Amino acid sequence: MKFNDLAELFSRLESTSKRLEMIEILSDFFKKLKNSREIDDIDKIIYLLQGQLVSNIKQAPKIGIAEKMIIEALSLHSGVERSKIKEVLIKKGDIGITAEYILSKKKTQKSLFDFSENSSNNKESLEIHEIYSTLQKMSITEGSGSHDKKLGILRSLMRKCSALEINYLLRIITSTLRVGVSTLTILDGLAIGLTGDKDNREFIEKAYNLQPDLGDITRLLVEKGIDAIKKVKISYGIPVKSMLASRVPYGEIIEKLGSPFTAEYKLDGERLQIHKCGNNVKLFSRRLLEISDQYPDVCNFVKDNVKTENAILEGEVVAMDIFYEKMLPFQILSRRRRKYDVEDFSKEIPVGLFLFDILLLEEESYIDKPFPLRRKKLEEIIIEKDEIKLVESKLIHSTEELLEFFQDARKKGNEGIIAKSIKADSVYQAGNRGFLWIKMKGLEGGKLKDSVDVVLVGAFYGRGRRKGVYGTYIGAVYDPLNDKFEAFTRIASGWTDEIMEFLKKEMEQYEVDKKPKDINCEDIPDQWLLPKVVIEIIGDEITISDKFPSLGYSLRFPVFQRIRPEKGPKDATTTDEIKQLYSSQ
Ligand code: ATP
Repeated sequence: MKFNDLAELFSRLESTSKRLEMIEILSDFFKKLKNSREIDDIDKIIYLLQGQLVSNIKQAPKIGIAEKMIIEALSLHSGVERSKIKEVLIKKGDIGITAEYILSKKKTQKSLFDFSENSSNNKESLEIHEIYSTLQKMSITEGSGSHDKKLGILRSLMRKCSALEINYLLRIITSTLRVGVSTLTILDGLAIGLTGDKDNREFIEKAYNLQPDLGDITRLLVEKGIDAIKKVKISYGIPVKSMLASRVPYGEIIEKLGSPFTAEYKLDGERLQIHKCGNNVKLFSRRLLEISDQYPDVCNFVKDNVKTENAILEGEVVAMDIFYEKMLPFQILSRRRRKYDVEDFSKEIPVGLFLFDILLLEEESYIDKPFPLRRKKLEEIIIEKDEIKLVESKLIHSTEELLEFFQDARKKGNEGIIAKSIKADSVYQAGNRGFLWIKMKGLEGGKLKDSVDVVLVGAFYGRGRRKGVYGTYIGAVYDPLNDKFEAFTRIASGWTDEIMEFLKKEMEQYEVDKKPKDINCEDIPDQWLLPKVVIEIIGDEITISDKFPSLGYSLRFPVFQRIRPEKGPKDATTTDEIKQLYSSQ
């Protein structure tokens, strides 16, 4: 497909904020695409619509082009001085929009200034797959002379692009392409455009939750139709979207789940989805990326102590003291997040694996089986040792018993508990935060009984001791329906000097001069940030707020707890969860 057709689609999508209009634009686009030769690029089109270069279960290639180089290329391309480009960039806040603006202006002045490179008259049209192969080339260009090589490649790409195409090309290169359509909107567009029936969205979504590569799922839909989508199953090597837990006031848990139900310790570690195929063990993170290399010891525990050839299991890996008597907090475990010296660190920081679910056993899917059956099967196939066991659980018949178990969990250093339904319909709901699992973290003090994960979207410079770093950040929550980040609170406490310095450095790559379009925030920070980094905060209570009118809620006395590197911006607490938390106070 011609990149220009895609750029025009993006532009149409960006010109509206209405979900129904977006669905219509997308479904028309998919309908036309279905019978054309251009369908070959469908997976790439889907990833780019999701604002990614590749599927979310794959590590995106690092293209390694800084804004400075882009400005240099744009200056050579347009004949406009770098200082002028920088000025426009400050006003527009986005390098793609800046480029489109500059080039369109130049075009209208073309009769006055005949600039050399951007002669769109003799522009060859660029195909999407060419962009991919060129970016791939850039990502492997390293070492001496790489700057000039990359600059050359970028300029030759630009020569083939119109101003509109350059806008999107630069946003793809800088990972800031987000045209504002949520995955839910894409799913609706696919159902209507490719099957003619909106109700089929449910099946496409279910398939996507089991095999979360929307490019692959769409290709399957195009090539084999909706019946093939309905048959998509959980498979070895492809991580399933995680089932998540909701929150309700603890007194209502028993009503929601019915009596009795099970409660388990909510361990303070990292979630792992474990795919065992004989002696080959793969571990996937909460974000569904493969992290087997990080935990060679866990791979061995599984190889040696899971009594079946093949299985997909879920559990939490937790840092342990050397005697395997005490679980240590997540901060200790996070030191294992490294590429080098993994063996040394696995000795220095031993870990334990605590299993809590089974999704596939040999070829038999367990996700549609009730939870007690899954737990029983798990008990049967694990040889329990210090380093691998099932998570502690208890059958609960009353709120009193629940509170007792909760206190016990907290005393032993856990985050809290997760209450789980054991009814006949207690299936594993992949990708869903429903009410079959309810978490209870409970915080002494304030009314807010749980922590909240926010994305950092803005920052204020510190004063006094905090001079030179940011002293306060604006945290936002995520609205999945509209694919927007809603500002929620200013966080000024709980930071250590070390964290503040670390974050200041980390944030440099995400600093932008203008509020990104996917952020709703009426508070004006000294520095806007691209929504990338997620942190956990606690606070006193959620209040109705005028300060953040778009969301309408805020948090009193927020306190930073920790950075959440295992969470992406879309894994932050959602706007609906904030409403739930508010009404449960
Ligand atoms: P949190 O911020 O609380 O870690 P989350 O958004 O990752 O939350 P939740 O649904 O809120 O997900 O809580 C489930 C998380 O709790 C899982 O992702 C997992 O890492 C962790 N966990 C710890 N113990 C258990 C358990 N016994 N059963 C399920 N999940 C558990």
